[in-house]
Amino acid sequence: MTSTASPDTKGAPKSAPNCAPKISFVSLGCPKALVDSERILTHLRAEGYELARKHDGADLVIVNTCGFLDSAKAESLAAIGEAMAENGRVIVTGCMGAQPEEIREKYPDLLAVTGPQAYESVVAAVHEAAPPAHDPFLDLVPPQGIKLTPRHYAYLKISEGCNNRCSFCIIPSLRGDLVSRPAADVLREAEKLVKAGVKELLVVSQDTSAYGLDIRYAESPWRDRQVRARFADLARELGELGAWVRLHYVYPYPHVDEVIPLMAEGKVLPYLDMPLQHAAPSVLKRMRRPGNQEKQLDRIRSWRAGCPDLAIRSTFIVGFPGETEAEFEELLEWLKEAKLDRVGCFEFEPVAGATANGIAAPVPPEVKAERKRRFMETQNAISLRLQRAKVGRRMPVIVDAVEGGIARGRSKADAPEIDGTVHAAFRRPVRVGDIVSVKVDRAEAYDLYGSVV
Ligand code: SF4
Repeated sequence: MTSTASPDTKGAPKSAPNCAPKISFVSLGCPKALVDSERILTHLRAEGYELARKHDGADLVIVNTCGFLDSAKAESLAAIGEAMAENGRVIVTGCMGAQPEEIREKYPDLLAVTGPQAYESVVAAVHEAAPPAHDPFLDLVPPQGIKLTPRHYAYLKISEGCNNRCSFCIIPSLRGDLVSRPAADVLREAEKLVKAGVKELLVVSQDTSAYGLDIRYAESPWRDRQVRARFADLARELGELGAWVRLHYVYPYPHVDEVIPLMAEGKVLPYLDMPLQHAAPSVLKRMRRPGNQEKQLDRIRSWRAGCPDLAIRSTFIVGFPGETEAEFEELLEWLKEAKLDRVGCFEFEPVAGATANGIAAPVPPEVKAERKRRFMETQNAISLRLQRAKVGRRMPVIVDAVEGGIARGRSKADAPEIDGTVHAAFRRPVRVGDIVSVKVDRAEAYDLYGSVV
């Protein structure tokens, strides 16, 4: 038997041009199918489609079928027949859609038949049969929002503001105290970004390890579970999304220890961007820095024991008001012990409104410049030794640019813009955003050179 005759089979949508098309929806089957229905409807509603209460009057009908038992199949076929009779423009999806012949044999005039969990196909079929009304806002904004980074990586801001009061910084007075986003909110955004093609998520905030403190680590619903707004819990969930996850602005609070196993397991990149600013306890005290600064070296040693590939990036300030030669020497000695992988160094600059400006005598500019030079000289020798140890190794590299037979990208130890570059010759096609395996042949203090293997 073929479909019941319909007044409008495969005809034009009924809604006037520029009016929101109306969709009638039939959802059959188990809770999983119901979730699928919700997902399709959420997507369509977000695009401006209206829901119709009845089949007639709708621009089309979607029937989400169940094919588990014969009785369920019969019910699904009956629902399709009803939709064809009352409307005539019908899209079938769900479990029965996995056997399209059976349905097509009975109803050859269906607009489309798609299988279970084929959300994109259902939505594409709806777009074709009843295009969404033009909405400049929705049309111009991609689902993942507007991004200023290349398509393959994105910054993910988990909180705003800061509860610390470092004496050289005026961010708290500009942005206020810490305000954390609920974990589910962050995870939804991250998931959208990954779906849109992002391969690397760069977690940022003013103080990433303090995440959730202001909202008392509140739980929020994510997928089938509750996730606490805690640094380690969030990192663990982000690690499940299938992208590289890189943690920035992490201060050495004790609970940072909890993310090291995630790094060792490969869930989160073995990389910590930890702006330490100084190492002499007396200077750190004047800086009013957060975290347990006294035990930094011990902490770093234990992290490396738990995750030998861990790359630590940090920034330091030289010439902080009152910094003595002895304090600076202490910093240099610390640096030689810590052997950090990536280090940036800034000469202290007084920021208008910062309390540091008046706490001690300023260090003369030529002394600041001299200390920066000595600092970078010390670090360059460390970086070069660490980089040379990578020669001969193979490592995954995310490609940022391809030019003249050379792919330029970053290893797990390199964040965009601030760390080194891996330059790799290649023979087979390589595209921006690919993660390729590179064999390292040569090393400089910041960059590595090799070929894609
Ligand atoms: S330097 Fe960082 S941690 Fe310190 S007050 Fe400024 S934003 Fe907060």
